[in-house]
Amino acid sequence: MQPIGGTWFVSVNNSYHTVDIRRWYSKPCIGSPLKPTAVGIALTYPNWNKLKNAAVRVETEIPALVAISPCWHDSQIDLMFCDECSPYHKAAEAAENSNTSDNADEH
Ligand SMILES: [Zn+2]
Repeated sequence: MQPIGGTWFVSVNNSYHTVDIRRWYSKPCIGSPLKPTAVGIALTYPNWNKLKNAAVRVETEIPALVAISPCWHDSQIDLMFCDECSPYHKAAEAAENSNTSDNADEH
């Protein structure tokens, strides 16, 4: 499974001969595994190839797309709090805050 930005991932399923482009989510618990959402599409290998060819055509026909660049971060901390590069940081923070408030209730 490869991240392609934010909460989107691409994975290959050799059993069904599909390439899955899908949004995944994480529950706000530390160590919670990623789970797939219903938002996405499973493409057959021929359709995947058509999509790749279409992407090349879009790049050549819309030169302005060259101006789009990946994220740039001044520091590791900036990267950790970027919604595109670390899409689940808010879930981790929520879990951490709930643990902190749990501890506060015990006192
Ligand atoms: Zn980023």
